[in-house]
Amino acid sequence: MIELSNVSKTYGSGKNAVFALKEVNLTIPKGTIHGVIGLSGAGKSTLIRCVNLLERPTSGSVTVDGQEMTLLKRSELNQARHRIGMIFQHFNLLTTRTVFDNVALPLELMGQKRGAIKERVLPLLEMVGLADKAQQYPAQLSGGQKQRVAIARALASKPNVLLCDEATSALDPQTTGSILELLRSINQQLGITILLITHEMEVVKSICHRVSLISDGKLVEDAEVGDFFTAP
Ligand code: ADP
Ligand code: ADP
Repeated sequence: MIELSNVSKTYGSGKNAVFALKEVNLTIPKGTIHGVIGLSGAGKSTLIRCVNLLERPTSGSVTVDGQEMTLLKRSELNQARHRIGMIFQHFNLLTTRTVFDNVALPLELMGQKRGAIKERVLPLLEMVGLADKAQQYPAQLSGGQKQRVAIARALASKPNVLLCDEATSALDPQTTGSILELLRSINQQLGITILLITHEMEVVKSICHRVSLISDGKLVEDAEVGDFFTAP
């Protein structure tokens, strides 16, 4: 479960202060897919980055699976982040590493042995449909394939939570559909809680259980997807 309680985030100070999040309250039950939708600059990226403390909230609390993230020491935070995978709009793959070695990276950083890494990485590549691309480099892949590699990498450390920051925004509609399908199956088969942000209604309609609307740093709606889109 993810719980944000009175989370505010201010960038800068004085007359340059930007109030990116204003007392956001949000509860995401375990195993659900929750979408946060809003215009550019509304605070979506800040919100999702506050969950794994890539941004530190100015005030408020963030708990993931019962752990209060803002209170963790550096080493504890690194541990906690193994339980929270993240994918990005531009994939953030390492161009000098093969597909296999990109997915292996988090496991290497955790100090796992080569044999154990192989046992983990190959089934992940299988799951995302890229077993035959293990020795290729990111530049040899399509956008959809790159995002599949990023998804496999995000799942390598067996997270309970997957954060998706505009994960399909750089993809064409057909590829978007196939990536959303993959995320849905990850949610259903692995029980992973997914928090995704997007500016596209279609993404929310297609896979989210619940949706929040963020506007000018404030959550202004929080509803079942069906209710949200049929509301008068
Ligand atoms: P979204 O993801 O919805 O486009 P962001 O969370 O990126 O929104 O941005 C929310 C607000 O915070 C915007 O006004 C943006 O300009 C500002 N902002 C985001 N990151 C920073 C930063 N590192 N420093 C200063 N202002 C920032
Ligand atoms: P997906 O929808 O499976 O995530 P894409 O839509 O990007 O991936 O690609 C659809 C299919 O076309 C893939 O199975 C892939 O093998 C092939 N393909 C697309 N672009 C390329 C490319 N640049 N190099 C090799 N194969 C590609």
